[in-house]
Amino acid sequence: MNLAITLSFILPQNGTGVQVSWQDRFADSPDTLRSAIRPQTIVPVMDFSIGGDEFITMAGPCSVETEGQLRSTAERVRRAGARILRGGAFKPRSSPYAFQGLGLAGLKMLARAREATGLAIVTEVMNECDVPLVAEYADILQIGSRNMEQYALLEAAAHSGRPILLKRGMVATVADLLRSAQCVISHGNSQVILCERGIRTFETATRNTFDGAAIALLKLVSHLPVIADPSHAAGNSELVPALARIGVAAGADGQIVEVHPHPEKAWSDGDQSLTFDEFDRMMLALEPWLAIRQNLCLEALPVCQ
Ligand code: PEP
Ligand code: MN
Repeated sequence: MNLAITLSFILPQNGTGVQVSWQDRFADSPDTLRSAIRPQTIVPVMDFSIGGDEFITMAGPCSVETEGQLRSTAERVRRAGARILRGGAFKPRSSPYAFQGLGLAGLKMLARAREATGLAIVTEVMNECDVPLVAEYADILQIGSRNMEQYALLEAAAHSGRPILLKRGMVATVADLLRSAQCVISHGNSQVILCERGIRTFETATRNTFDGAAIALLKLVSHLPVIADPSHAAGNSELVPALARIGVAAGADGQIVEVHPHPEKAWSDGDQSLTFDEFDRMMLALEPWLAIRQNLCLEALPVCQ
């Protein structure tokens, strides 16, 4: 008997040189896949959109802390080109003793910052009971890494009708992320924005390992907009501009970046937060890369049939 032939029946398909198509690999998330009839989802937000030609920057503090902190950050990031203000009012913290967020008071500060600056608001919702409240204040609901597979939350968020920024779980595969997106879409909300924020690997020098390949892959197989989060991937502000460049080069539709007036005094994630000046410099340094992106014909990507 020919051993090679026997082995090819025993070994898993993708270990034998037999290519599984992307369509087959992600077959359980059919509504997330790029096709001739669904080449790209464009998510309208206020007077701009995510997933179109413009690279969208979301920026702001990890947590909403004070009126002054939020307002000064909003004004500076808007001047540097951000379209969306980020800031957590409900914070998923790994320690029960860490700051958990200002809740409703934080949502109200976000709404006042939108009023003052014209920036849209993205903020996290952590459980299904809070969805109606957060949806009243936010333009985009963020589902955090720790909740990517909380199906009751995904369903409630879908029903809010708000666009959903779905962050990849820190131990989730690309297929897992697409399955959660499929869950939102299957509950009637196709306004899903995927976010790569780094995953856990054996590397501990960075907070997480930024998976640029996942961005490239998601852009290849999915019609959903993809956002890079260099801040949570890096865990260190010095690395954020370089990871932002990687996000642009991988084809991301935008980025979400943590910025704080005094990172050393931040109530959460200070180590990875950029100062105002650092954010200005990063945005300026991204310009030539964004010009190249403009010329890349992303429409020419192969379409999954
Ligand atoms: C955040 O955006 O501040 C956050 C908690 O992100 P993640 O869910 O990716 O850890
Ligand atoms: Mn954070």
